[in-house]
Amino acid sequence: MNDTTAALRVDAERLRARFDALAAIGATGDGGVHRPALGQDHLRARQWFLDEGRAIGLDTHVDGAGNHSATLACGQAGAPALLLGSHLDSVRHGGRFDGALGVLAALEALQVVKEAGLELDTNLEAIDFTDEEGTHLGFLGSLAVTGALTADELGRPGSGVEVFQAALAGAELTDTSILSAARDPKTIAGYLELHIEQGNRLNAAVADIGVVTGIVGLRRQKVTYIGRADHAGTISMTDRLDAGQGAAGLMLAARGMVMTAFPDSVVNIGVIAFEPGAMNVVPERACLTLEFRAPVAEDLERLGVVLKSLVRAEAKSRNLEAEVEEVDGIQPVQLDQRAQGALAGAATRIGLKQIAMPSGAGHDAQAMARICPAGMIFVPSAGGFSHSAREFTEWDDCVNGANVLLQAAVGGL
Ligand SMILES: [Zn+2]
Repeated sequence: MNDTTAALRVDAERLRARFDALAAIGATGDGGVHRPALGQDHLRARQWFLDEGRAIGLDTHVDGAGNHSATLACGQAGAPALLLGSHLDSVRHGGRFDGALGVLAALEALQVVKEAGLELDTNLEAIDFTDEEGTHLGFLGSLAVTGALTADELGRPGSGVEVFQAALAGAELTDTSILSAARDPKTIAGYLELHIEQGNRLNAAVADIGVVTGIVGLRRQKVTYIGRADHAGTISMTDRLDAGQGAAGLMLAARGMVMTAFPDSVVNIGVIAFEPGAMNVVPERACLTLEFRAPVAEDLERLGVVLKSLVRAEAKSRNLEAEVEEVDGIQPVQLDQRAQGALAGAATRIGLKQIAMPSGAGHDAQAMARICPAGMIFVPSAGGFSHSAREFTEWDDCVNGANVLLQAAVGGL
């Protein structure tokens, strides 16, 4: 790399202006954004991204899975693309940095390379993946690109078939178009992603950049306890078959089991609903979602088995029925050594303090690692807060991350 290339930096003010413009789309008024995948504000954000790409002279494209891309061609016929990206969707009432920073930094990197007139060996593609957060089906866009999604999985989205199909129709997508979005790995040189850490490791280490070594795997299950609806006043406490008690027992037991038997893993029950859902009726059904994450595949598998037996044991001890349905999941991955090296080298060139660290959150890089060298960097999250309006990253840290992404991209993998 020559000195001119090594000296390339993002335009921090331009990046900031785009960041603020994007954060206004679906803004919740308290500093956060509400852009669930394929909702109106998410679609507006994606359109805005394409418009920005076009305005700076990039080629834009939307694939069959709804992934939005802006590409800077290198001019060499048949050259593969180095993908830089993340996602523009958010969790419900999420933060304005999660995903958005990675997509905007990618766009900025392409603009800097274009304006510098740099000749690279690869096309550069800034990509915004569909439904990273799993509003309908987690990592839908990136998994579709890898060819790993199946018609079977599309048939059981977390949001339910009707809601999912309506959302797809609103974005002019279909199951068939999603399955057609798979790309030939030979056409992809690699994938690099900048993301906020969403934890406290960088703060604890007083480091600027985290070079991600691997990403935990996760699985999601829908659990339903089935009891009997009864008059809440007339049926004695001993005679009632209260489905809610199964759910409550599982919540406590799952936490205790994971903390003692799987210290590197986590479990979460984030959604729970009672039916019929009336104050004076004993719950007949309690439906909850069980999400668990583990750093290695064997632990994830074993944890799934143990949790299932826990679900059954809690049902049995209360004379309830229990059903478990697998929703979706993703295997843990180790990220590419060369990609880690390129990102670490870039951080060193810029003079930033870095650490190597695993990711406890899932990311599109995890899916992309199946088909190409994938790498990721983190920048610090103030207080470790994320998935809420409190999510915040100092602007200097955002710029640092964008510069590392740019420098790794121009250095190549
Ligand atoms: Zn994210």
